[in-house]
Amino acid sequence: MMVRFSNWNGFKIMQNEISHKNVKICNHPLIQVLISDLRSTETNSIRFRRLVKEVSRHIVYEALSDVPVKTVEVQTPLAIAQGYGFEYSDFILAPILRAGLSMIDGAIETLPLAQVRHIGLYRNEETLQPVEYYVKLPETIHSDTSVLIMDPMLATGGSAISAVDVFKKRGIKKIKFMCLISAAPGVNALITAHPDIQIYTGVVDSELNSNGYIVPGLGDAGDRCFGT
Ligand code: URA
Repeated sequence: MMVRFSNWNGFKIMQNEISHKNVKICNHPLIQVLISDLRSTETNSIRFRRLVKEVSRHIVYEALSDVPVKTVEVQTPLAIAQGYGFEYSDFILAPILRAGLSMIDGAIETLPLAQVRHIGLYRNEETLQPVEYYVKLPETIHSDTSVLIMDPMLATGGSAISAVDVFKKRGIKKIKFMCLISAAPGVNALITAHPDIQIYTGVVDSELNSNGYIVPGLGDAGDRCFGT
C-alpha cells in the first residue's frame, strides 16, 4: 500500500492507496468531506444515516461508470435525438445485513430500477467463518445481471468474500463490492479471494485492531446508524 497525495485546488489530501486495477478509491472531494464528517464522534445517528445515504448515492454513481450502454433513438418534441439506454437492465443491490441496510436508501435513489436482495451472514464464533442465515434468491438469476454488494465497512473481508460466493454460486459474473471505509487487509483479502470483482471504496484505512475494527474507521457502523 502506498500513500498518495491528491491536489484539489491547492489542498493536499492524503489517501492510502492500494494499487490494483479492480480497486477504485472514490477520491472525489465531496465524498471525502462527507466521510470525514461520518467518522466524527460528534456526528449523531440522525446525521450519520443522512451522511451514509448521501455517500452511498455517490459511490453507486461511481460504480456504474463503466456499465455498458447501447444507442437508442429518442423522440424529442422537435426531432429524433441519439441517446443511450442500459445494455442490460437487470441490477441487484445486495446489502449485507445489518449495516448494509443503511446504504440502500441512497443506492436505490441512484438506481431505482434495481432489485434489492438482502444477504444475512453471521460469524461462527468457533470456526470464525461467516454462516448464511438469510439468503433468499431466485433459483435462476440471469447471467447478465449486475450485482452491487454493499456494506459500509470492509474490515477483515470475511463477510464480503462470502457474499460474493453467494452470487457466484448462482452463476453471476458481474459483481461489484461497495463500501464507505475499508481496511487494507480486508481489501487485499477480498481481491485475493475474488480477483475478478471490482471494489469501490471511499477511503482505505491502514489497519484493523485486535477486535477486527477498522482504525481509525468510524466505530461500529450498525450501532452508529441504528442508535444501538
Ligand atoms: N464493522 C464495523 O461496523 N466497523 C468496523 O470498524 C469493522 C467492521
